[in-house]
Amino acid sequence: MTSNVEQTVLVINCGSSSVKFAIIDPKTGHVYLNGIAEALTLDDARIDWRFEGKEKQKDTLGAKADHQKAIDYLNNKILATAPELLKSICAVGHRIVQGGELYTEPTLVDDEVEAGIEKCIPFAPLHNPAHLIGIRAARKAFSTVPHVTVFDTAFHQTMPAVAYRFAIPEELYTKHGIRKYGAHGTSHGYVAKTVCEQLNADPNNFNVITCHLGNGASVSAVKNGKCLDTSMGLTPLDGLVMGTRCGEIDPSVVFFMCDVLGYKVEDVREIFNKKSGLAGISGTTSDWRGITEGYENHDEKCTLAFEMFCYRLAKFIASYYVPLGNVDAIVFTGGIGENSYLMRKRVIELLPAVFGVKIDEDLNSKARAYLGGSGPIHAPDSKVKVVVVPTNEELVIAQSAFKFVK
Ligand code: ADP
Repeated sequence: MTSNVEQTVLVINCGSSSVKFAIIDPKTGHVYLNGIAEALTLDDARIDWRFEGKEKQKDTLGAKADHQKAIDYLNNKILATAPELLKSICAVGHRIVQGGELYTEPTLVDDEVEAGIEKCIPFAPLHNPAHLIGIRAARKAFSTVPHVTVFDTAFHQTMPAVAYRFAIPEELYTKHGIRKYGAHGTSHGYVAKTVCEQLNADPNNFNVITCHLGNGASVSAVKNGKCLDTSMGLTPLDGLVMGTRCGEIDPSVVFFMCDVLGYKVEDVREIFNKKSGLAGISGTTSDWRGITEGYENHDEKCTLAFEMFCYRLAKFIASYYVPLGNVDAIVFTGGIGENSYLMRKRVIELLPAVFGVKIDEDLNSKARAYLGGSGPIHAPDSKVKVVVVPTNEELVIAQSAFKFVK
């Protein structure tokens, strides 16, 4: 399985209590190993992994095992059984949620970069501290290869001030950095580029609206490969209706909940992040498959959740005709975007006829990534191409890290 491995990249994505990892060939995207350590720092810390073509394996890591222990387990236990693969790792790529205005591209990790990620903690209080722990642990465990950070916010740094500034006093931006940063940038950038390759289009003359729809969801306006606007804001709470996040909302709701109803700010934060979105509207599930099932069975609340998700997305898509002028393609990606033909059908239906976006029902229903389907789904007479492009953030991170090896 691993006897011909030449050069691979270890991709690490650290959450507050988890480490996802994958070993990838940066040239082909081939995945040799992937896995996840979960419940870190808790009593039931555990890890599972799968070598390509083999059964999934799992183990416990011991009570309160931390990120360092998980990464050491990967190095000393899992990779000890695959010495060729261990030897092939020539770089480590780290996914970082927030790079603020400091980072516009993948960056070689040194102590200064660690300090930069620390500086951005206020904008990603759950994610950036975990990323730092992961970087420090991985730099110790894999000390002889370069470590590279790939920032989710970097792709959105090309937005003009008219899109990224909030209409609040200037010094809140200049002194405190309050502005729109965006999210899922690695995915938006990847699908915007990949759709040009698939359609044989010139990436320097192509306007695309990219819809990344998973548990977190965002939509971006991309002109000639550069982001002009995106739906996420200061943090990944803004914009679309998400699994448990509310997305766009009148800020006065916060004042009303605190001043009139007596909620504390931290309660509102918890409700907006964890109890809202599809979960809040349906009252039963944050999972799109559950929402769709309810919608098909005419459940009133699931139908409202389904319709609100599609309506909000259609409104954002329509609004991105403003920065783009004309639109060449709309791309769907992420677990929902790649699989839910019902959602795609409804969203395109909601767009005004004047935009001339039409889908081919048959192509649309066959484009389900879990069945291996993707690609164009527009009708021959559509003014705009509509394409399902499976995202691959790990591959982008692996390729970005590999550039530093050369
Ligand atoms: P994350 O943001 O956590 O990476 P994903 O991109 O994996 O999320 O997307 C998860 C969402 O995709 C869930 O709401 C799930 O219900 C939805 N999803 C996954 N598979 C399907 C499917 N076959 N049909 C419809 N929705 C799906």
